[in-house]
Amino acid sequence: MSARDKIESIFESVVHRNPGESEFHQAVREVLDSIVPALDKHSEYAEAKIIERICEPERQIIFRVPWEDDLGEVHINRGFRVEFNSALGPYKGGLRFHPSVYLGIVKFLGFEQLFKNALTGMPIGGGKGGSDFDPRGRSEREVMRFCQSFMTELYRHIGEYTDVPAGDIGVGAREIGYLFGQYKRITNRYESAVLTGKGLSYGGAQVRREATGYGAVFFADEMLQVNGDSLDGKRVVVSGSGNVAIYAIEKVHQLGGTVVACSDSSGYIRDDRGIDLETLKHLKEVRRERIGEYATARPHASFVAGASVWEVPCQVAIPSATQNEISEADAVTLVAQGCTLVVEGANMPTTPQAVRIFAEAGVRFAPGKAANAGGVAASALEMQQNASRDSWTFAHSEQRLREIMRDIHARCYATAEEYGMPGNYAAGANIDGFRMVAEAMLAHGL
Ligand code: GLU
Repeated sequence: MSARDKIESIFESVVHRNPGESEFHQAVREVLDSIVPALDKHSEYAEAKIIERICEPERQIIFRVPWEDDLGEVHINRGFRVEFNSALGPYKGGLRFHPSVYLGIVKFLGFEQLFKNALTGMPIGGGKGGSDFDPRGRSEREVMRFCQSFMTELYRHIGEYTDVPAGDIGVGAREIGYLFGQYKRITNRYESAVLTGKGLSYGGAQVRREATGYGAVFFADEMLQVNGDSLDGKRVVVSGSGNVAIYAIEKVHQLGGTVVACSDSSGYIRDDRGIDLETLKHLKEVRRERIGEYATARPHASFVAGASVWEVPCQVAIPSATQNEISEADAVTLVAQGCTLVVEGANMPTTPQAVRIFAEAGVRFAPGKAANAGGVAASALEMQQNASRDSWTFAHSEQRLREIMRDIHARCYATAEEYGMPGNYAAGANIDGFRMVAEAMLAHGL
């Protein structure tokens, strides 16, 4: 059977075994399609059924999360932790609290995480978790009670050497604090490296908060440098306004570009003078308001309700909101308006149809598993600091992040060249990440 036929039959069985999990199917399809050339070179992968094994998570945990709201009403949510693959290290990946979360989303994120973590070159396996809990509109106390209940089950599955969760959408420093407190309370262990993304007062690491956004911009910078170009003077659109978006905007501005628009699920704001970060941070990190409030604080800016941020012309797009946020139509608009570089800050924000449009138009494209790996890389640095009971300065941590992103870029670039697909960062990332996991799995035996 040819490698291509083999991939088709594996994909069919993934769909069959995981019915209705369209995001997971999409992520698997994308990786399988691009590793065909690597399979042609490595017959040992097929013999050991490495792909089939990689597509099946090692463990999937689903649990009930009961909690009480401020009025005394009881709510039941569903919690998940998918421990995807531990060939390279303890399972590592964030927790997402969002009403859209179900097993298929957690699996897609865990699958992507596995290759992303491999690309960082750090000793971390892949996992992901979360809940369909919606933190929006919930009080501090409700969020705390939810986190405590979530950890009351999760604690038995995680540990510094087993599985190390962090944040993702809906889980930031506040939630990590409550989760850590409950873990410590239940286990009577001050096990700093059981969670990453901690606050700086109790074992968190400098630059972890900034790392995903900064890392994505460092990656963009590397891609531009290959062509003797830079971010200086570039007009940029960053979707989202969460942790990834805010720090991507900060770094673009530091490197001389101008971010003219960002968004949340209610719409987007456009500020041609450049997004004012202080206003945005206050709005999103302190007051937890909707993005429209930005235009109240900065009257020269405009708020457009319910529309796609991709209608704002830009040269560089950094989608940093959520999966499948760039549709085919958005991609057509981006290309028509002169966008030449797309760097994914979020996980799989570009639909496969949009990826195709970009490829046909010669738009350079960096997949999230390479471009947004700075977040998890900084998590691995946090684990390293916790293990050695040390803490590094901001400058040193940022320097390490910069080096790691440079390395990931170089790796993706070189692998794409090696396989005769120069400039195809998606193929480079998938093949390189896959090879690393496959080699470790082969070494460990069946
Ligand atoms: N949720 C982040 C990601 O998608 C970070 C995971 C981590 O730090 O473990 O990579």
